[in-house]
Amino acid sequence: MRPQASQHLYIRAQQVLPGGVNSPVRSAYQRVFELDPIYVASGYGAYIQLTDGRMLIDYCLGYGPLILGHAHPEIVQTIADTAETGTCFGMTCEKEVQLAEVISSRLPGFQKMRFLNSGTEAAMLAIRLARAATGRQKIVKFDGCYHGHADPLLVQAGSGVATLGLPNSPGVPPATVADTLVMPYNDLTAVQNLMQTRGTEIAAILVEPVLGNVGCIPPRDGFLAGLRHLCDQSGSLLVFDEVMTGFRIGPSGALGRFHVRPDLIILGKVIGGGLPIGACCGSASLMDLIAPAGPVYQAGTFSGNPLAMAAGLKTLEILQRDDAFTQLNENSERLAAGLRRAGEKVGVPLQVNQIGAMLSLYFCDRPVTDYTIAKTANQELFKRYYRKLIDLGVHLAPSAFESSFLSIAHTQEVIEETVAAHEEALRAL
Ligand SMILES: *Cc1c(COP(=O)(O)O)cnc(C)c1O
Repeated sequence: MRPQASQHLYIRAQQVLPGGVNSPVRSAYQRVFELDPIYVASGYGAYIQLTDGRMLIDYCLGYGPLILGHAHPEIVQTIADTAETGTCFGMTCEKEVQLAEVISSRLPGFQKMRFLNSGTEAAMLAIRLARAATGRQKIVKFDGCYHGHADPLLVQAGSGVATLGLPNSPGVPPATVADTLVMPYNDLTAVQNLMQTRGTEIAAILVEPVLGNVGCIPPRDGFLAGLRHLCDQSGSLLVFDEVMTGFRIGPSGALGRFHVRPDLIILGKVIGGGLPIGACCGSASLMDLIAPAGPVYQAGTFSGNPLAMAAGLKTLEILQRDDAFTQLNENSERLAAGLRRAGEKVGVPLQVNQIGAMLSLYFCDRPVTDYTIAKTANQELFKRYYRKLIDLGVHLAPSAFESSFLSIAHTQEVIEETVAAHEEALRAL
């Protein structure tokens, strides 16, 4: 497709899709970075190809699900084989049981789960369940954490809300968010103070164990353990939103890395192998509050969809079989080190935050430990850098507030090419 053709598609898209897209950040290429319209045609391994023919190394990876890279041959084959036997039944199939067994075996103590179709739905169920289990209404979330677009959680959220600088959304009734209390991430003292006075009203503290939706911000030592302690004191539930970190920052996600045990874990992204999925996981006693075992209602036409189950199962199998996390961690550290080194060499102050196969870069001269600091990073510099990087063949998610992801297809060679492009982009600033 020639550039005029992309322009034409852009115009058609504006006519039939709000803002020309189906998720807000996707409009940032034009709206924030003022690039000519670009559309993706295909993806393979670490690369995507645009409709204008350009090949880009991709660190967006569908915003996280594609830990095996695009169109991994075994995943493609699994999806094709499964599709031949039917795509939707509304009846329970063996693959749902198998995927639940595998996830449960990797997350000791989380015996049961409910599959849904998105991380958003998983977060909705987690808070409904926490409220039912505790008989309390209030929820604590953290500034910059994104848990999908459900009404009660759409306050001071990251991701698209941060990228496009949107205020809290109209259409969300004030009463719906009145029970959502927002705390600064990594600030245990603030949470302590809140819990001291209002702990007995709090149904759950909901947290991204690694804040991934304003870039990548790991938890301070003791932050998650501190939240666990406060929840124990007040009888509140601790919910880890591992939609991004689950099976990405290690074989048992944040649970395995930080050794802090939440009451509920929500998952999505990686566990669907590139197809839509969500999951809410917990102990048998908590999860048995969900209908039909218990009274907490939740349902879904496409929940436990055989294609997503099969792709997820195969993904987790490949990650395990190929000892993928060792290589993913090494390569991610290599990339982070390369990005930092180039910054020093060229003399541009930048922070690179990395944990497992997720990382982000801020044009900022002090460590980025929360959303307030992330917002002080130089957005104008990021914009110029981003535009140059696309020219040089590297695609990050179009936002200074989205994490970048690696896949097993991001080899050492790909990383070296990326670091070289990064250095050249820094020189051009
Ligand atoms: C992506 C994401 C969600 C929302 O998942 P969807 O599948 O987009 O609804 C929730 N929480 C976190 C941490 C996420 O990164």
